Amino acid sequence: MTEKNRSRAGILESKQRLQLVTKSMTERSRSRAGILESKMQLAKSRREMIEIKKRNEAIRSRISKIRDDLVRVENEHETLFKSIEQMKKQTATYNEEMKKLNEHCDVANEESNKLSEIILESRKGLELRNNKIIEKRLLYEYQLKQIQEIYAGLKAEENTRKDLHNQNLDLMGNIRVMCRVRPYTDKEKEIEQVSLECFDDKHTIQVSTKRLRLWQMQIEKSTYEFDHVFNTSADQKEVYLELSPLVQSAIDGYNVCIFAYGQTGSGKTYTMEGNVNSPEKKGVIPRSIDEIFDKIEETNKLGWNFEVYVQYIEIYNETIQDLLIDEDKDRKKSCKDRKKSFKEDRKKSFKESKDLCKIVYNEDTRMTIIENAERLKISKKKDMEILIGKASNRRSKSSTNSNSVSSRSHGVFILHLEGENPLEKMSSRGSLSLVDLAGSENIDKSGSVGDQMTEAQSINKSLFYLRYVIQQIKDKSNHVNYRDSVLTSLLKYSLGGTAKVCMLVNVSPSTDSTNETKKSLSFGQDARKAHVGTAMRNGCA
Ligand code: ADP
Ligand code: MG
Repeated sequence: MTEKNRSRAGILESKQRLQLVTKSMTERSRSRAGILESKMQLAKSRREMIEIKKRNEAIRSRISKIRDDLVRVENEHETLFKSIEQMKKQTATYNEEMKKLNEHCDVANEESNKLSEIILESRKGLELRNNKIIEKRLLYEYQLKQIQEIYAGLKAEENTRKDLHNQNLDLMGNIRVMCRVRPYTDKEKEIEQVSLECFDDKHTIQVSTKRLRLWQMQIEKSTYEFDHVFNTSADQKEVYLELSPLVQSAIDGYNVCIFAYGQTGSGKTYTMEGNVNSPEKKGVIPRSIDEIFDKIEETNKLGWNFEVYVQYIEIYNETIQDLLIDEDKDRKKSCKDRKKSFKEDRKKSFKESKDLCKIVYNEDTRMTIIENAERLKISKKKDMEILIGKASNRRSKSSTNSNSVSSRSHGVFILHLEGENPLEKMSSRGSLSLVDLAGSENIDKSGSVGDQMTEAQSINKSLFYLRYVIQQIKDKSNHVNYRDSVLTSLLKYSLGGTAKVCMLVNVSPSTDSTNETKKSLSFGQDARKAHVGTAMRNGCA
């Protein structure tokens, strides 16, 4: 029993130990399952960790991107802020300007309001004026009618005036001859005895010459009659007054020629030109111009428009020399050259000169034009004064250059007056030739040689043909030969046929000149008897 109890106790103990081992084995398997579970859970957790890490990475990269974005946005914000600041400043400037503009606007509005008021007022005034204009128009139409009536009357009067004027001139004869005695020079006054007497009738002049006859000193008196005699005290105005009707005729469409004849020093240039710048001493040329422009202005009222052209030449040794030649062209030559060429020009033969300045006739208008010589259009008195000044300066210059050439040349000043009257459908072509002839004392000069002989011959020739032409006109010859000298060729339409001519015989009161004076007076008296024919207007439609 004790052994059995002991083995029972050992078995019990082993059973207990087995139970314990089983229990621990169970526990161990339990813990093993727990470990496995834990392991699985750990693996899961690991996976989750990886997942989380991945997400963390993504979040981190997103955060860095967001940070970058943030920086960019901040930069943009800064830029925007700056531009907003600038815009704010600009807005302030704009506001300032706006303010000013508003102020201007206010002022402009105020002005506009005022203007509106003015416009309103003006409109009222305009309406009033309009009414007045209508009234005036009615009055004007009435006056126009009256003017038309007056114009018709004026025209009739003008025609009557022209007719009477021409009848009057015709009665005086177409060649009028007047005589002018120049005053004594201071030197002449001291020694002179009076040999010339101008009668009060203003037509007669008497020359007294002492002659020894039958051992006795006798006084021979020769009397001459002219259309007018101007004594030593006659001034330029008085002379011109007698010539003025002829100038009027040139405007009326006639060819008019006035020439001064006489010996050198008898006052031809003084009479024709005088002192252009002096109102008292200016001669026939400047006075004619003054009158022509005054008359042209008057005729404008009757619907006439006139154009005035001028040519101014001198004839030396049968050569035409242009006195209006363009100074600028001429100035290019040196002064020395000019003097030389002028002398040379003068020496050219008539044949050569024909190539330079040619006389051209217009048979229809009965006008003569010098081709290749300046033909200037003149529109006011002043132009003409300057032009004459220049021309006479040229003439006097050449005179000193070649020993008083001016007394050996004929100065011819020609005005062409071309008028149109569109209202009346009329036209008029007149001319005025004013000639300062070469000194007549050269005619009988003999024994001269060289240049002097050529000069004397050509003066002889031209004055002879002038007298001859006048003689032929006087004799009513069927054919008058104008072509023998340049002077008569040039004056063809101004001397004969239908022209009006006036010769001014200039004489010196000096007893030294008595012989020349008598010759000049005889020539004038002869010419006076010439009858040109009935004067006729040119180119009247
Ligand atoms: P011509 O041209 O005939 O040679 P001028 O006209 O040159 O003569 O006159 C000669 C001089 O006499 C000039 O000094 C001129 O001023 C003078 N003379 C001529 N006529 C008059 C006059 N009517 N009144 C005053 N001086 C005159
Ligand atoms: Mg002279």
